[in-house]
Amino acid sequence: MLVANSDNLATFVDLKLESMSDSSRPLNFLEHIIEEDLKNGFPQRALRFRFPPEPNGYLHIGHASSICLNFGLGLRYNAPVNLRFDDTNPDKEEQEFVDAIKRDVEWLGYKWDTERYASDYFQQLYDWALVLIKNGKAYVDSQSAEEMAAQKGTPTEPGVESPFRNRSVAENLELFQDMKMGKFQEGKHALRAKIDMSSSNMLMRDPIMYRVLHKAHHRTNTDWCIYPMYDWTHGESDYIEQVSHSLCTLEFAMHRELYDWFLNQVVETNKVRPKQREFARRNLSHTVVSKRKLARLVEEGIVDSWDDPRMPTISGLRRRGYSPEAIRNFADTIGIGKRDNLIDVSLLEFQVRDHLNKVAPRVMGVLDPLKVVITNYPDGEEWLDAENNPGNEDAGYRKVPFSKEIYIEKADFKEEANKKFFRLKLGGEVRLKNAYIIKAESCTKDKDGNIIEVQCTYDPKSKSGSGSEESLRKVKGTLHWVSVSHAVEAEVRLYDRLFTDESPDTHKEKDFMEFVNPSSLEVITGYLEPSLKKAQIGDQVQFQRMGYFCVDPDTTATKLVFNRTVGLRDSWAKISSKQ
Ligand code: ATP
Ligand code: MG
Repeated sequence: MLVANSDNLATFVDLKLESMSDSSRPLNFLEHIIEEDLKNGFPQRALRFRFPPEPNGYLHIGHASSICLNFGLGLRYNAPVNLRFDDTNPDKEEQEFVDAIKRDVEWLGYKWDTERYASDYFQQLYDWALVLIKNGKAYVDSQSAEEMAAQKGTPTEPGVESPFRNRSVAENLELFQDMKMGKFQEGKHALRAKIDMSSSNMLMRDPIMYRVLHKAHHRTNTDWCIYPMYDWTHGESDYIEQVSHSLCTLEFAMHRELYDWFLNQVVETNKVRPKQREFARRNLSHTVVSKRKLARLVEEGIVDSWDDPRMPTISGLRRRGYSPEAIRNFADTIGIGKRDNLIDVSLLEFQVRDHLNKVAPRVMGVLDPLKVVITNYPDGEEWLDAENNPGNEDAGYRKVPFSKEIYIEKADFKEEANKKFFRLKLGGEVRLKNAYIIKAESCTKDKDGNIIEVQCTYDPKSKSGSGSEESLRKVKGTLHWVSVSHAVEAEVRLYDRLFTDESPDTHKEKDFMEFVNPSSLEVITGYLEPSLKKAQIGDQVQFQRMGYFCVDPDTTATKLVFNRTVGLRDSWAKISSKQ
């Protein structure tokens, strides 16, 4: 289901923004659950939340929803929120990812209460596993993974009990301890919870709690060669941290029964018993939000890195020039759903544009240059006043150099054009932004017939801001421009959607990689006004009439690199409405 598309975007966002600025905005269904708990006597001071990423990749825009949700609840209820790394799979996890995740959560503007790691609880989890064995609730199964799978049954047929299910407590304890001591190869034994092989919930059919894995862990190194499974770890970690509401995505709904079963084995009466509740995953159109799939884009060289500005990762969006405010507003605007849905990426772009419109200084840059010679302009230069942000008086003015030879965009000139073409045509006039009115007199072509230069005259009395009658004269078009001899060359990276399909990973017969947009990146040379010589990495500007751009970290002392963050309007909406 597509919740909002660009057609109804404006109204949708207006309505939502209105309701957000009102502190009495309607509660989402998770807040309703919390309110109900408070009403039933749960003390507000015992509320506690967590954001629990697995450090197996970089965070993406989907995670941003979960971050905004959990930390948002922390702010609303003045409750602590932990950042917990769910690091139980040494195969995929790395310190690099831990560092990136911390950076991203901080950048989004949130502060966690304490930094936790599931791996810090390995000993406690092991001790609890011993308790389960002693209570006859867990056993060591010595079958192969294939044998166990063959006994699982189907949703309509009960499974078959393992021949090792009724091992004695003593034998189980010994085997489990030997597993921990490293006496067995991988796959030789596993510890399983003894629940119910005929449960209608397949997850309750004696799930595996531990497997042998002879792998070094990024934090515990080789201390352990048995690793706890997600289901066994997650709820118990919530319990150790006394998390009151453990919010996860819908695919865990079926796991809730197991979450509760595992808690029942350890919970003490005077402690908070965590409650798992599920909400819908956030899917964004024209991209994929799964660390595993994003990892493929990096590994197969489709993008340069996890923080490639085309990636929907937080670090990619940051490098692209998206602000934390825009991402938070996006998460808030969409809210929390109960059913999986696909959100059009133009909604995120709307928020980005909205924010940049307020803060980004206006500058001039020509991306596809055509030389214009102003034949009656004297040699030399003059420095004109240019307003930094018409929406913000405090932003002030800067100086831009004007001279006889300037660049304009190729698309802004035609030899002949109809009345609707408000740009420059032979015999026609336009105003140059912050400068003069010019008139196109003639043009020069190369041997292939391409226009390579336009000759114009200017009206010396028409200078913007001079107050003269001519300066107030209205002409239909205003163009941006850059003085040729003062222009600063920069590498400009123009990004487009990473996938051509709205939902690339929902096709049954086709791999999502088949929908990669072959022209998601175009690198060109831009000619920029000289004030940009001093631009610093991360600076954000509006190239007037062209879009919002930011300075990429690839910038060096001798080379400026700009990323196009977003265009001035939604170009995809135009394309799709034409079809
Ligand atoms: P991925 O498949 O991308 O690795 P994941 O769910 O396995 O996603 P985790 O690191 O386990 O990633 O997720 C941390 C938290 O973020 C979990 O609570 C998870 O439910 C939530 N989360 C992950 N993806 C999304 C999403 N697309 N929308 C909302 N929440 C998400
Ligand atoms: Mg995961």
